[in-house]
Amino acid sequence: MSTSPDLVPAALWLDNQEVPALSGQTLPTYAPGTGQVLAHLPRGQKEDVDRAVASALRAQPAWAALDVNERQRILWKAGEAVLAHAEALAWREAVDVGKPISNARAIDVPRTADTFFYFAGWATKLHGETIPVRGPLFTYTVREPLGVIGAIIPWNFPLLLAARKIAPALAAGNTVVLKPPEEASLSCLLLARCLAEAGLPPGVLNVVTGLGHEAGAALVDHPGVAKITFTGGTDTGRLIMRNAAATLKKVSLELGGKSPFIVFSDADVTAAARAAVTAAFYNQGELCTCGSRLLVQRAVHDQVLEIVAEGARALVTGDPLDARTQVGPLVTAEHLQRVGGYVAKGDAEGARRVVGGDPFSPGWFLQPTVFADVRPEMTIAREEIFGPVLSVLPFDELEDAAALADATEFGLAAGIWTRDVGKAHTLAARLRSGTVWVNTYNRFDAAAPYGGVKQSGFGRENGFAVLEELTQRKTVWVAMDGGRG
Ligand code: NAD
Repeated sequence: MSTSPDLVPAALWLDNQEVPALSGQTLPTYAPGTGQVLAHLPRGQKEDVDRAVASALRAQPAWAALDVNERQRILWKAGEAVLAHAEALAWREAVDVGKPISNARAIDVPRTADTFFYFAGWATKLHGETIPVRGPLFTYTVREPLGVIGAIIPWNFPLLLAARKIAPALAAGNTVVLKPPEEASLSCLLLARCLAEAGLPPGVLNVVTGLGHEAGAALVDHPGVAKITFTGGTDTGRLIMRNAAATLKKVSLELGGKSPFIVFSDADVTAAARAAVTAAFYNQGELCTCGSRLLVQRAVHDQVLEIVAEGARALVTGDPLDARTQVGPLVTAEHLQRVGGYVAKGDAEGARRVVGGDPFSPGWFLQPTVFADVRPEMTIAREEIFGPVLSVLPFDELEDAAALADATEFGLAAGIWTRDVGKAHTLAARLRSGTVWVNTYNRFDAAAPYGGVKQSGFGRENGFAVLEELTQRKTVWVAMDGGRG
């Protein structure tokens, strides 16, 4: 695996400058493709978060008061700066997260730029309403920013998830303190530099690297932070919501998933089976919307299983920096062990391992794994694995598919494959899921709201939906008779 000559010195990003943590302490971050140390990140603590929030609070009034055309221009230029640094960003994402560089180039980087382009446009369109009321009164609302937004994100898509939180928050006139994932912070640090290059004033975005229970918790506890926007595990989300109550912060939570990918016998079975392979193994299955449960109508079950098994076997698994790689390593040795534990559970609970399941090294690799004969009560059918492990379950009728699909605590996304439009709409309406895809899977766009129900969280990202959650309405009443009435 090659190393990049321009690896960003790992530092906190405060007031558009690289600074060390006040304690001087650092944390190693690893390259999952080799298992070697890649860089040392500052171990940000409460005092670093205090500095970052103070800076964001100082910067916020001027950022909110800036001519909206200028705000729009800076965010658009941020998208251009991302594209100008595309290769360096893709390299970081591949080497630090372990995702195939071809995916980082084709998806993570351009979608990050698109997110800034899309939300740039909203900066000039966030207007209020005039409201007809009783009496000689002129009543109107204005949409105001919340203040400082604390953004906490996981390691699977650090660059894109950071952009999803930063771009709308800034478009609405908020400032942001970002706590990137300790496993993979390097792309976020370069993103911060891109924004500074685009003309973002100092303090409008600060980045504090460090551990969740230290830097992350300090951000959640800080009284100067108006809202926490969090993406990560369901247990962490619960803890954050509890801790945010102390300061009555708003929270939005994008949490885990166990998404069903449902194939009816009247579907284009080959297209569905091929798409199921990508849905399960894209980003090594380290994807909140991973199609980790493949539900197949019995009449086509064996046919689909055969195509899926063949597809999984054929995936090129290896060096994330090799452009031919389709599945990279898992993010850490601990995560590989955790995912390997689920493979062992699948074996022990009597599922039939059709493909893969063996780890290999150097680095933290697991062969893409397919289990058949999975029953709904098995651990691998219920819990989020967050790795390249697919469970295949048969069903008979639409009712059974609906019941099976909803038989987990999660409700993030679902896929339906059928040629029957009525069936597709009927099931889409039934599923308790934040997103439903029909004859496609894993489609995202900065314009389309995205988020979960049930234990997958609440709040929406993308589109106008997220701007509603990052602003508050102020209602102004003006007496038209000068106060004499
Ligand atoms: P995680 O919950 O362990 O960590 C996520 C972030 O929270 C990290 O930055 C971490 O440092 C921070 N954190 C941890 N403890 C904290 C605390 N006490 N206070 C404040 N911050 C804290 O999750 P992970 O292992 O990094 O990511 C995997 C999870 O993320 C999976 O469950 C996955 O489904 C979920 N995820 C969800 C979405 C979505 O959009 N719904 C997207 C990607 C990942």
